[in-house]
Amino acid sequence: MTGHSPRSTVLFLEMDQEKETEMKTRLHIWRKRFTNRWYDLRAVLAGYCNHRPYSPVPGEGGGYAHWRCALRRGHEGMHRARNYVWSANGRTSYLPVPNSQPMPRQPWDRSMTLTRRQDRRRERWLNRRYAEMRASRD
Ligand SMILES: [Zn+2]
Repeated sequence: MTGHSPRSTVLFLEMDQEKETEMKTRLHIWRKRFTNRWYDLRAVLAGYCNHRPYSPVPGEGGGYAHWRCALRRGHEGMHRARNYVWSANGRTSYLPVPNSQPMPRQPWDRSMTLTRRQDRRRERWLNRRYAEMRASRD
């Protein structure tokens, strides 16, 4: 049989829609990653510390993926994003800026899109967890 039956046409359109959605998602992620890298570069060149507390592996690091240290490079003490501080291990804690001091900030807001490396690390961690869960079930 040649040609499309109405049924296969619908299926074809649905597959196309799926592909289009996937392409849009990939493009969105690519744009966000590119913008994050661009802003990180600008922040570092502008003299900000830019340290990030986030780790894609639960139990490591802390905070959110878009947090960056807003203090100047070479600062003393803890890294800071608004009212949260952290040390090199990334464990964040709430420590409000005193009212007498200005809120340290960077002019560039990052998105929470993970870097490609963070994405791979998260995937490896998930795969290990799934393997452990499968092993414990047997
Ligand atoms: Zn810092």
